[in-house]
Amino acid sequence: MPTYDYECNQCAENHRIQHAMSAEKPACPSCGGELTQVFLVAPAVNGAGSGASDFDAPACEAPMGACGTGMCPAFNGS
Ligand SMILES: [Zn+2]
Repeated sequence: MPTYDYECNQCAENHRIQHAMSAEKPACPSCGGELTQVFLVAPAVNGAGSGASDFDAPACEAPMGACGTGMCPAFNGS
């Protein structure tokens, strides 16, 4: 189930709430106020930017968990 970040319009608290994608927008757990969805650090999903992109890198053949630790050939090659 995806996790969404919300900020309350009333108490300005931030809440991370897990709910189904098709579910109604939840109310603030603290005050019951209306929540506005906020998008925190958004990953570059489409690789639209310039420069090195993970999408251009060769498939990582390192064992699960080794990527990024210096043991991954794909990581070292970029
Ligand atoms: Zn609230």
